Amino acid sequence: MPRISACPQMLLPLPMTEAEVIIVGGGPAGSSCARELGRLGMESLVLDRATFPREKLCAGWLTPATVSDLELDANDYPHGFLTFDQLRIHIYGIAFSLKTTQHSIRRYEFDAWLLERSGARVETHAVKSIKREDDGYTIDGRYRCRYLVGAGGTRCPVYRNLFREHHPRKDELQVVAQELEFDYPWKDPRCHLWFFQKGLPGYAWYVPKADGYLNIGVGGMAARLKNRDDHIKHHWARLCSNLQKSGLLTGRIPDPGGYSYYLHSGSDIGRVGNAFVVGDAAGLATTDLGEGIGSAVRSGLMAARAIAKGEQYSLGNVRRYSWKEVVRFFQNKHP
Ligand SMILES: Cc1cc2nc3c(=O)[nH]c(=O)nc-3n(C[C@H](O)[C@H](O)[C@H](O)COP(=O)(O)OP(=O)(O)OC[C@H]3O[C@@H](n4cnc5c(N)ncnc54)[C@H](O)[C@@H]3O)c2cc1C
Repeated sequence: MPRISACPQMLLPLPMTEAEVIIVGGGPAGSSCARELGRLGMESLVLDRATFPREKLCAGWLTPATVSDLELDANDYPHGFLTFDQLRIHIYGIAFSLKTTQHSIRRYEFDAWLLERSGARVETHAVKSIKREDDGYTIDGRYRCRYLVGAGGTRCPVYRNLFREHHPRKDELQVVAQELEFDYPWKDPRCHLWFFQKGLPGYAWYVPKADGYLNIGVGGMAARLKNRDDHIKHHWARLCSNLQKSGLLTGRIPDPGGYSYYLHSGSDIGRVGNAFVVGDAAGLATTDLGEGIGSAVRSGLMAARAIAKGEQYSLGNVRRYSWKEVVRFFQNKHP
């Protein structure tokens, strides 16, 4: 009887890939960090479990500050980019237009473009385990680096492995959202926001996109919904019905996707040893409007400068509000 032996390839360990900096996650936080590192003369390797372009649940609203941090020139951006010169705000039964300049993009296109623009080496790999060693970090026994950046969003493995005990997330800062982006020939080109409808601790949105896309969704504070035995799905159903009644949408609305993330807690623990957390991994969305792209970009840039130039990495320097005017408006309503 022939002896069965293991295939020799199965016995060989996979070669170790070494990089000075490994960034886990290629969203806006990871790609901004990678691009800045490259500009400062350091190479990095980005590991993302998804192959880009990939879907990302997000309304894709960009503030002028974020556009500026990204050094984004709308004329050079090769995909759809829409600019609003006002927002239609609905609150307590009153509707009014707020003059402001804001923008919308599609994350599917935007994130892939940012990652490519970063010039970083990218590998598709779902990171599971991270081991801290004297002089760096080993990932899944396959990758080794001196500096590690966790840019993997809410469920980032760098946060889970190295930060959770130092920087526990606060339940009261968790946002839950339901959202849908689809091909729709919208007629109203304005961006609409509905605040606190039927007790929603958050807001609903209708965000037109270039090239005939539309994004609609609702987001609210998870703990406050739970305390009143409410669910974000009820607010999604209400939004759909209101959009149909008002004529903003017609026809069947496909099912939404769901995601959760955390608002900025004010904690300053974004670095432990040579490991950093940035963007949603650090829980940095603005506390007034839950805007997270800007914080992701800003923290990614800051982490790169801390690594390459030895600057201090302080989450306290990431903005906590999108619009001070809006905060003041609500503070006057709820003194
Ligand atoms: C419904 C909704 C609407 C929103 N609307 C807006 C908005 O209009 N404007 C705004 O500014 N913000 C908005 N936000 C928040 C914003 O989307 C996030 O704050 C932002 O995407 C954070 O960017 P990031 O780079 O930190 O993470 P992400 O964009 O989530 O990127 C993380 C990356 O990490 C990868 N990853 C995850 N786990 C692993 C792993 N184990 N191994 C390898 N890779 C991994 C993922 O594939 C992903 O590519 C919204 C959020 C939601 C849920």
